[in-house]
Amino acid sequence: MKNYRIAAIPGDGIGSEVIAAGVEALNACAARDGFVIDFDHFDWGSERYKKTGAFMPANGLDLIRKHDAILFGSAGAPDVPDHITLWGLRLAICQPFDQYANVRPTRILPGISSPLRNVSGPELDWVIVRENSEGEYAGVGGRVHRGLPEEVATDVSMFTRAGVQRVMRFAFGLARSRPRKLLTVVTKSNAQRHAMVMWDEIAAEVAAEFPDVTWDKMLVDAMTMRMTLKPETIDTIVATNLHADILSDLAAAFAGSLGIAPTANLNPERTFPSMFEPIHGSAFDIMGKGIANPVGTFWSSVMMLEFLGETNAAARLMRAIERVTADKSLHTPDLGGKAKTTDVTRAVCEALAGDNG
Ligand code: NAD
Ligand code: MN
Repeated sequence: MKNYRIAAIPGDGIGSEVIAAGVEALNACAARDGFVIDFDHFDWGSERYKKTGAFMPANGLDLIRKHDAILFGSAGAPDVPDHITLWGLRLAICQPFDQYANVRPTRILPGISSPLRNVSGPELDWVIVRENSEGEYAGVGGRVHRGLPEEVATDVSMFTRAGVQRVMRFAFGLARSRPRKLLTVVTKSNAQRHAMVMWDEIAAEVAAEFPDVTWDKMLVDAMTMRMTLKPETIDTIVATNLHADILSDLAAAFAGSLGIAPTANLNPERTFPSMFEPIHGSAFDIMGKGIANPVGTFWSSVMMLEFLGETNAAARLMRAIERVTADKSLHTPDLGGKAKTTDVTRAVCEALAGDNG
């Protein structure tokens, strides 16, 4: 029997609520499809930081380096500055494990309506590839003369040829694997005349390796309009760390709620474990209330199962999610319903058990 070791890191806020739900659903998948998942649970997060001064132990990465994958909740607490948590926990895993391809699918799931008037469902089926290792979030910069009138602060966006090439190859490859073989390269090379121009040049070079993929280029500001007004013209998208961060929250809103959107932080070469997480954050306004939507974590778990090669289980979990979202009585408050996290989780596990596909 196949056996997987998964590191579960709930982190902060609703992280613990949605990761508990995800673990339950993944165990139900394993039972249904005849494999075993051993979860190791790590209490890394802001509580630990407030007590010990560190979000994770000094040897933290070594503790999870050999795991098959990481299931992550959220990093962020009301009483810790966001840049401290993000760099202390989430990026402290993503960067050393070189999870450079962040993949974010968006679809309108059954039973959920898009705020876009002309979208009933099939018009919107996207996957955003976010460069996840450099660019605007490379961490290069500094701050000097703090508090003085001459204070200076810089965040330098840093792009490397190798970094852009690998994410472009990944995105073209992903576009090729989808039926429409259609990629939009998002840029801002009119205003940012160095790195973004190199980004465009490398896109064109890599495109030559993928003659069967149709591609076009779009300035990021115009891209927000195209996503809103002509969603059916888009399939796969590749964008920088910052641009894709923003565009994917917009995409999640179009799909009905931030609470359903999934993401995979992939190290495609599998040198290091990849990390799967809902795209939402700690959701301070609803934490502890038992109403967090677990669908984003379930869908991220589908991506994890696909990456592990458990394609039957992945498809079965996706069908279970869609069966449950189709039933409005199982919608959590973010989708306008009254269901609790546990109601949705139980329904997904039941749908899994009853799925004979
Ligand atoms: P957020 O995603 O936490 O919340 C935005 C809104 O969406 C809130 O109204 C929230 O209630 C709602 N929401 C989010 N997830 C939901 C779910 N599963 N079910 C129902 N409703 C949901 O974003 P924010 O308020 O900007 O950030 C809060 C904290 O989370 C901050 O500290 C931020 O830095 C952190 N954060 C972390 C990550 C991450 O670790 N990946 C991502 C985003 C934000
Ligand atoms: Mn974001």
